[in-house]
Amino acid sequence: MIDKETTYVKVNPDSPSSEGVREAGRILREGGLVAFPTETVYGLGASALNPRAVAEIFKAKGRPDDNPLIVHISDKNQVPDLTDEITVQTGRLMEAFWPGPLTIVLHKKPVVPDVVTAGLHTVAVRIPDHPVALEIIKAAGVPVAAPSANSSGKPSPTTAEHVLRDLEGKIDMIVDGGACRVGLESTVIDMTSEPPVILRPGGISREDIEGVLGHVETDINQVSSTGTPRSPGVKYKHYAPKAKVIVVTGDDYAKIFARIAELVSEYRSAAKRVGILASAEMARGYCADEVFPVGSRTRLETVAQNLFYGLRFLDGADVDVIIAEGYPETGIGSAIMNRLIKAAGGRVIYV
Ligand code: AMP
Ligand code: MG
Repeated sequence: MIDKETTYVKVNPDSPSSEGVREAGRILREGGLVAFPTETVYGLGASALNPRAVAEIFKAKGRPDDNPLIVHISDKNQVPDLTDEITVQTGRLMEAFWPGPLTIVLHKKPVVPDVVTAGLHTVAVRIPDHPVALEIIKAAGVPVAAPSANSSGKPSPTTAEHVLRDLEGKIDMIVDGGACRVGLESTVIDMTSEPPVILRPGGISREDIEGVLGHVETDINQVSSTGTPRSPGVKYKHYAPKAKVIVVTGDDYAKIFARIAELVSEYRSAAKRVGILASAEMARGYCADEVFPVGSRTRLETVAQNLFYGLRFLDGADVDVIIAEGYPETGIGSAIMNRLIKAAGGRVIYV
């Protein structure tokens, strides 16, 4: 691929209207690629109505073309441009959670190109809750298709620095708006089936959604500590750092700690460098090569926020093995465990 010159601009989320944002909008409208911050992770955007521009996203990321993108809009009024069908239940979800980390899958109109939806007849839509993202989408004047702005297979980027490292020279612009608040990707819910199905856990919890819709199903292919996906090759995507990742989980934190301590000494006596992704409560007790505290067990939002940062940090510290503590699978904890188990390629130890 011919190297592109990647422009880097900082935009203050408190006063997003700026020359940088207008330039980002212009690039998107004209078919270029712009990485920008959202409240979940950084996104790599292209005009959703321009198939050639969208195809460039897949090239820049090295993303398999059967993995559909999320279309980002800045206003609910844009939804009817993408779909003919907005049910009462869908309207309630939008009202409750938009702008925010909830992606809604709907029947698509023909105007949405196949390359965006990977040939599916549905389109995934959301309004991000980030002033810079909203200003850029408005400036573009078109819906913006955007997956996470990482190289395919790497953990999603939660800072502009991560985006630079993965995509510099491959995209037109990076807009730096600081670190992402949620830190994990959006929840994806399919509203074309009855009852609705959560396809991916994320920033909005199942409990919150059920508070609005009543019972919803969970996709059987979803990765959790209790369910193995039926077709690993297809749905089991790895957010794989270079290092081998192991998750140690269970209800008793003292047991988690003891098992990890054991693993650390085993690996170290085999001359392996070990990094630990630890809760704030237990971080100081470990004796490993690197310990990254992700946050307190009493504030799982913080753990979510720091999770991908921590994985990238430990990978950068050249450890051979990353051992991660597990968390209870409720609320945002479900999304945390989903991402950890994917990073671990299914290597989970129960204590
Ligand atoms: P990313 O933004 O990189 O997390 O990727 C977007 C994700 O959204 C995909 O991997 C799918 O899980 C989901 N998605 C996007 N469009 C659809 C769709 N039409 N149907 C089901 N899931 C979708
Ligand atoms: Mg992604």
